[in-house]
Amino acid sequence: MKFGAHVSIRGALHLAVDRAGAIGCECLQIFVGSPRQWREVIYPERDLDLFIEKRRKARLDPLVAHASYLINLAAADMDLYHRSTAALIYALRAMDRLGGFAVITHLGSRGDRPWPDALARITAALSVALDATKRAAVLLEHSVGAGGQVGGTFEEIADILEAMRFQPRVGICLDSCHLFAAGWDLRTPQGVNQMLRAFDHTVGLKHLRALHLNDSKGALGSRIDRHEDIGQGRIGRRGFAALVNHPKLRRLPGFIETPGFDHQGPDRRNLDLLKELRARGERK
Ligand SMILES: [Zn+2]
Ligand SMILES: [Zn+2]
Repeated sequence: MKFGAHVSIRGALHLAVDRAGAIGCECLQIFVGSPRQWREVIYPERDLDLFIEKRRKARLDPLVAHASYLINLAAADMDLYHRSTAALIYALRAMDRLGGFAVITHLGSRGDRPWPDALARITAALSVALDATKRAAVLLEHSVGAGGQVGGTFEEIADILEAMRFQPRVGICLDSCHLFAAGWDLRTPQGVNQMLRAFDHTVGLKHLRALHLNDSKGALGSRIDRHEDIGQGRIGRRGFAALVNHPKLRRLPGFIETPGFDHQGPDRRNLDLLKELRARGERK
């Protein structure tokens, strides 16, 4: 498995590549624009070109963008729904321009409205976004399933893929913290196997395109989405060793979104820990 991190674009996009290199990333996740504002940032062409060139030299592959946290593709409020679709298109265009692989997005919340209604909205938004863009994929992120949050079960994810007729540009991102908080016990190799069997049976492993590797502050099944540094949370090292060395997951990129041992965000120490677990798996 290749390891990367969510890295800040503060100052300029191309600085993210330098930051990624400094902590030992092998692949890269960034925001394009601000994750908590609707404002679309227009980056200077020079910054975009420099990003591309630096990333090629640093061999950070794949590149993904995490879409805005504000996105709700299941929103009943039409203003929010259209803003969400536009934000997804914006992120996809940025990935197309930068040669990125995909945009990872949360699905949003359906409140107390029925699932078929939310499913229809999500499907329409995804179709519009894909039609408006060229190449980058959309990876739907599995959630902890708190409240009316969409995507907290494998069944819901499978429904969306099916409604999209298994469009090859739509895939899935699983987050270890979200899985654990949603009730999948990833602390042991057996637990990891059980989760993957269920995912394969319900969704299909071929649709899984990326992982978020985060330990969990919340307890098993707590539906609390709070990330912890690798090995410091409720999942622990044994669970991550099983995840990163699993034969069915080895081909995937894994991105950390951990608080960091110095609370400065994803850091070298988290990545080194994962690399150490990977090396131990290889020696076996
Ligand atoms: Zn996310
Ligand atoms: Zn999370």
